[in-house]
Amino acid sequence: MTKALSLRSPVSSLKGVGKVREEILIRNGIDTVEKLLFYFPRSYRSGRIFPLGEERVGAYSGFHLTLLSSAGYFTGSAGVRCIRFLAADEEGTRVQVIYPRQLYLKKCFVKGDSAYFFGILQKKSGQYYLFSPERKETAPDPKRLYPVYSPIGSVSSRRIGAMISDCLVPCLPEIRENLPEAVRQNMELISKADAVLQMHSPSSEESMKKARERFLFEELFSFSVSATLFSRKQSVQRIPAMQKADPDLFFKHLPFALTDAQERVLNEIFSDLTGSGPIPPMNRLVQGDVGSGKTVVAAAAAFLCAANGKSTLLMAPTEILARQHAASFEKMFSFTDIPVFCLTGSAPKKKREEIYAVTTGNNPYILIGTHALTEDGTLCRNVALAITDEQHRFGVRQRSVLGEKGGAMHSLVMSATPIPRSLALFLYQKSKISVIDRLPPGRQKIETLYVGEDKMDRIYSFLEEKAREGQQAYLVCPLIEDDEENPLRSATEEFSHLKKRLPEIPVALLHGKMKPAEKNSVMEAFQKGDVRILVSTTVIEVGVDVPAATVMVIRNAERFGLSQLHQLRGRVGRGKQKSYCVLVSSHDGKKARERLRKLCDCHDGFELARFDLETRGPGEFFGTRQSGFEGPNLFEGISMPYLQRVADCTELFLNTASPEEILPYESAAKLN
Ligand code: ADP
Ligand code: MG
Repeated sequence: MTKALSLRSPVSSLKGVGKVREEILIRNGIDTVEKLLFYFPRSYRSGRIFPLGEERVGAYSGFHLTLLSSAGYFTGSAGVRCIRFLAADEEGTRVQVIYPRQLYLKKCFVKGDSAYFFGILQKKSGQYYLFSPERKETAPDPKRLYPVYSPIGSVSSRRIGAMISDCLVPCLPEIRENLPEAVRQNMELISKADAVLQMHSPSSEESMKKARERFLFEELFSFSVSATLFSRKQSVQRIPAMQKADPDLFFKHLPFALTDAQERVLNEIFSDLTGSGPIPPMNRLVQGDVGSGKTVVAAAAAFLCAANGKSTLLMAPTEILARQHAASFEKMFSFTDIPVFCLTGSAPKKKREEIYAVTTGNNPYILIGTHALTEDGTLCRNVALAITDEQHRFGVRQRSVLGEKGGAMHSLVMSATPIPRSLALFLYQKSKISVIDRLPPGRQKIETLYVGEDKMDRIYSFLEEKAREGQQAYLVCPLIEDDEENPLRSATEEFSHLKKRLPEIPVALLHGKMKPAEKNSVMEAFQKGDVRILVSTTVIEVGVDVPAATVMVIRNAERFGLSQLHQLRGRVGRGKQKSYCVLVSSHDGKKARERLRKLCDCHDGFELARFDLETRGPGEFFGTRQSGFEGPNLFEGISMPYLQRVADCTELFLNTASPEEILPYESAAKLN
């Protein structure tokens, strides 16, 4: 008799999971049935059949098509061999159907065949296209939604779906509710078990949305409660004030003068830190557009601490950025005897020991790193200030760890996300907010162009020309590897094409799945200018500073949020040469076009964020979101009234709950 499945069962107890799949799943963090059940679909396919038309462009849809020709071979623009054929729907509207690389499919498509095809409808130059649509001979149930999972390594969406169907029903009764009953009723949310069921096997679109809303709320609520607890705790703490130091001692070694905006913000920070007697720890958010010069402001705050014999920690979201900060801090502090260290996850033991020898001593230092710093918090003595460079990621939880482990300390968060004040107050609780609202003088406007895919040839030539002049370029793609279902340009594909197309130009590839050491060496080569064109996914989005980079090309630009595009654009235009940002998109959707055009005219991050909020309906979030719930974009597209309700629930909960009910959120505030 086989053992009954439970949430705790290892994945190997599932049907069809042998050694190989088990290993892949475990490597991706899915070791139990429970983890698998919380691996939610990336999107859903409707079983509905539509006529071809404008409204379907960009959406995943089903069409009933009759082939007007048999499949033939052809070579696509990037040199990829494809098969293609022409088909028409019942009303006679025509569509080109293309299967890149799957040449063996040729004999399956014969003139006169009729079948159901499922895929994302595209439109280019007035013509409809379907890339690698899924073919079905019989019509699916039009009322059902079919889950689509992101593949886990080589484990396909279909396989994941099958594994989940095996354990879903037997394990559901074990799933416990974790939201307080009063809160759940207040928000009219469905139960956790119900929501898990509806995520994987929705009975209707409505119920799938209810399930999503529940999990989104859960995420926001736990964030909100933890952050509130943390800020309450922090607000009763007191630490000794610092003595004023003359900042000119620091500034006279800089190659530029601070802008008025930088100076104003720095004064705000100094007045938080200095005074007489014990003071509450500083809790300040510095917002400033990319390139507004937040780093030097943070460095000046670190200088004040060092002048008072105190140390500073700086946390960056990536190793690349941590190294870069370390390099610029080293330069800025080279006239002092204050040591600057960089500690990242990949640092060897010997290096760590060298660093600890100093950080456990009594002299002030500056320690820069990724979140690896938080794990080593106990080894840092004498720290007065924790600086978090979030760029556009939200890391309140990490910020709290630093505070918890090292005792009370001042916190300074730097963010390039131009979020409205009300949202910032929700995210950063009792934070005070400073805004650097001017860019340093002499910053040029980055010429932003919006072009179709058909212009790629000209863009390659342009990149070649710039590279020959000694300039550098980024080429950003939304995906890492080829996904047959998805016609988006992948970074790996772009990279191999570019190498062939421009054999004499040094080109490199950078993506998030590379090992940290590989990423660093690619980034270093780019920084030195040894690599001229860097093909990448959005790992470069955060504040990398390469002054010779003058061109930013973004493929499938419609896939990115406006703020994200603005961030990417901020990677160029950091030197003296004229810089360009080229948004490549052949997407025909009206909204997408409007957004990309806005970016061409507007160079102000805050205005772009406002435009983004206004052009997006408050309810849109639940309907169009495609990916998971965690991560940097959690707050994108959530309306302010909704966040207000989350804040109200937090209040209600904290005022009525017992200590046991609050406990899980306390430890989340500490450990997450
Ligand atoms: P961000 O706010 O995006 O983190 P950085 O701090 O990296 O921006 O600054 C961007 C660039 O501007 C850096 O090369 C920095 O040296 C330069 N910079 C900062 N402040 C000034 C200033 N007041 N005048 C001229 N250049 C400045
Ligand atoms: Mg920065």
